[in-house]
Amino acid sequence: MNPEAPKPCNPEAPYKTYLSENELPAAWYNLRADMKKKPAPLLNPATKKPVTAAELEQVFCRECVKQELDDTTPYIPIPQPVLDFYKMYRPSPLIRAYFLEKSLGTPAKIYYKFEGNNTSGSHKLNSAIAQAYYAKEQGLTDVTTETGAGQWGTALSMASAFFGLNCHVYMVKCSYEQKPFRREVMRTYGADVTPSPSLTTEIGKKINAEHPGTTGSLGCAISEAVEAQSKLPNARYLLGSVLSQVCLHQSIIGLETQAALKKLGVKPDVIIGCAGGGSNLAGLIAPFMGEKLRGEADYRFIAVEPASCPSLTRGVYAYDYCDTGRVCPLQKMYTLGSSFIPSASHAGGLRYHGMSSMLSELYDQKLMEARSVKQTEVFEAATLFARTEGTLPAPESSHAIRVAIDEALRCKKEGKSETIVFGLTGTGYFDMVGYGKFNDGQMGDYIPTDADLAAGLATLPTV
Ligand SMILES: *Cc1c(COP(=O)(O)O)cnc(C)c1O
Repeated sequence: MNPEAPKPCNPEAPYKTYLSENELPAAWYNLRADMKKKPAPLLNPATKKPVTAAELEQVFCRECVKQELDDTTPYIPIPQPVLDFYKMYRPSPLIRAYFLEKSLGTPAKIYYKFEGNNTSGSHKLNSAIAQAYYAKEQGLTDVTTETGAGQWGTALSMASAFFGLNCHVYMVKCSYEQKPFRREVMRTYGADVTPSPSLTTEIGKKINAEHPGTTGSLGCAISEAVEAQSKLPNARYLLGSVLSQVCLHQSIIGLETQAALKKLGVKPDVIIGCAGGGSNLAGLIAPFMGEKLRGEADYRFIAVEPASCPSLTRGVYAYDYCDTGRVCPLQKMYTLGSSFIPSASHAGGLRYHGMSSMLSELYDQKLMEARSVKQTEVFEAATLFARTEGTLPAPESSHAIRVAIDEALRCKKEGKSETIVFGLTGTGYFDMVGYGKFNDGQMGDYIPTDADLAAGLATLPTV
């Protein structure tokens, strides 16, 4: 007997499109190089003058500063040790959401780029490993950082363990309490984790005194991590979002997506991502936005943010502090004001008052749309996605799912078979307190009033 080899099941309609390791992009794409009007420069908070590399290097790693200030070099080579690390979990798959499409009865084609296939559970590892590498190259021994939902802290703990750095994490208090297992993952990778605002820093003590019982925010945690960095002998501070260098590292998501779609012969119509500080979205859309800026193709881009923290849809475009303690450089961005502390929603990674300066500028030039969505609608979308596509999505990622579904339903109504691509930034295994509230029908939709927002905006600096 020589039985016939089984045939591939359905080669014409792939579910997952993987690039091979050899197709992993060898350089990051710096979208700023193709922007005619560049993001406004970072300012020194004391002098209100454009910040110099020397000033930034007191807080950030030298090579990261170079990337932060470079808005002209289109491609920046990925160092070999970073590429080698990437190969452990990249390229990540682009997946066709056939079952979600079917349950919606939509003629739209939905694809998602899945970044949850690593222990940190999100895209954040893409920048963590790059920043940790540059810290090590510079001869540093310690790095400090903040974490909201915990994904960035986990990613940086992994990256620090890989390169032998001591990692100190300030974790937003409400996440620290909601997600004790996250803390243990970080400690397993060797990091120490402090709930923020803490009593271990001057700024933490001040915030605790001014807002007794506060559950914290990314803005507070950033200030604490920056202060901690300045007190250690051989340390720098690493930030997981917002900065242009982080958007640069995340361009690996978009470059892979572009290559995979090219392989499939598919041109997307709409590209959607959730936006906290904006790094995954900036990375996902970068090469496509580049085509749009160069006049080679046209796409719609949609940033999705929580209604509880609506920096693009209800904020103002102005210079603001990146952190509550006002120690970081001033950045021109869509912001709710650095003193705005969003309600304790279950999408910790989206609880940030500002937005990447690059995305802010693109939004201001009307090259990108923005939408805000309510928490309960997000968890409805997350539940449908989990039940149809199998993957349990992070609440942050589920903001993008919500709008992808809404766009697919619009296509159904209009009888259009558009192609929708969204970023599935991570998995939600550590978000079960949020899922539990939703399952028990006890989840609320806190939306700040105009008066709440006015209070935050009143604290904008005059520049
Ligand atoms: C941190 C995080 C986000 C938001 O960060 P961006 O910088 O806006 O990309 C989104 N999804 C997940 C899973 C995250 O961990």
